[in-house]
Amino acid sequence: MIQFLSLKDVTALHGEEIAAAVDRVVAGGWYLQGKENERFEADYANYIGTKHCVGCANGLDALIWIFRAYIELGVMKPGDEVIVPANTYIATILAITENGLQPVLVEPRPDTLEIDDSLLEAAITEKTRAIAIVHLYGRNAYTENIGALCRKHGLKLVEDNAQAHGCRVPDGRRTGSIGDAAGHSFYPGKNLGALGDGGAVTTNDQALADTIRALANYGSQKKYVFKYTGRNSRLDEIQAAVLDVKLKYLDEDNAHRKLIAKYYYEHISHPLVSLPARLDDAQNVYHLFPIICQRRDQLQAYLKDNGVGTLIHYPIPPHRQECYPELAHYSLPITEKLAQEELSIPIGPAISLEEAAEVVSLINRF
Ligand SMILES: *Cc1c(COP(=O)(O)O)cnc(C)c1O
Repeated sequence: MIQFLSLKDVTALHGEEIAAAVDRVVAGGWYLQGKENERFEADYANYIGTKHCVGCANGLDALIWIFRAYIELGVMKPGDEVIVPANTYIATILAITENGLQPVLVEPRPDTLEIDDSLLEAAITEKTRAIAIVHLYGRNAYTENIGALCRKHGLKLVEDNAQAHGCRVPDGRRTGSIGDAAGHSFYPGKNLGALGDGGAVTTNDQALADTIRALANYGSQKKYVFKYTGRNSRLDEIQAAVLDVKLKYLDEDNAHRKLIAKYYYEHISHPLVSLPARLDDAQNVYHLFPIICQRRDQLQAYLKDNGVGTLIHYPIPPHRQECYPELAHYSLPITEKLAQEELSIPIGPAISLEEAAEVVSLINRF
């Protein structure tokens, strides 16, 4: 049996050190807004390459806070438009609509599966205030063209880095440091995962960081004084301590993912299965390993019957969800085709090359 992802095995890789960190916080008696958050925020900002990191409750909140803070700072107002990939996890779009902003959906390129930068200029209107890019599946989505368009039109560049901790853009900077602000998720299954929910915003913008820190703490910068109507959305000390341990091993864990991915790229050879364009190793941290197959559902059932767990990312695109009737008018054939044909096969820091070989051999015999 090869699970899609065994969190138990992932945690066990660094189990003793994680347990020691948890014990330290439990024994210390300080559980929120303390030294563990301070240390992790400093270490993560340093890793990503930004001046600021603000921990918060989860990745969705991180993205919500970025747009909310831009509204509080007068950079955006409800009704303004944000360009966003149609092929993303719905949280990216929820963060936009949660703030009364309008998502403008743009198709991915069929080879990279990331936002098609050649379609961006046509999507920009008078009301556009930002482009949100998502480094989906762990693949860098940033291009020079995106940066140039943001500068030309005075748009904020917001990165959803929930799936790409440790990924780099072609010039060597890390994703999460190239835009004006980036949201990160530390959901347990992510490359840098907590033992529960967690998230963070990274940015070089001091005013934005200060605003987000207040918003995530009831809207308060000073005890019992409230500048904004915020919420309670903090990263707790136990999760921060766990994340600081796992951050030390992130590059090593990502290197293992790259080894598995290399094996997949070199050995998957079924005529009905295609793989996304292979990026330079620095530009992909392989959060997921998507494969494309017209007989996807049959392939998934066949793998399941043979003991291999897979997942679909994602079976229903955001514009086809019941919660978004206002997006139902979109016709997005590439995104819709991906929802029909994408299958994510096992990858992670704890799966062995032998297991990857078993997955490949099964796929090639499909
Ligand atoms: C996981 C994820 C999120 C949301 O993060 P949570 O911590 O689960 O709230 C946002 N965007 C993308 C692309 C994700 O994969």
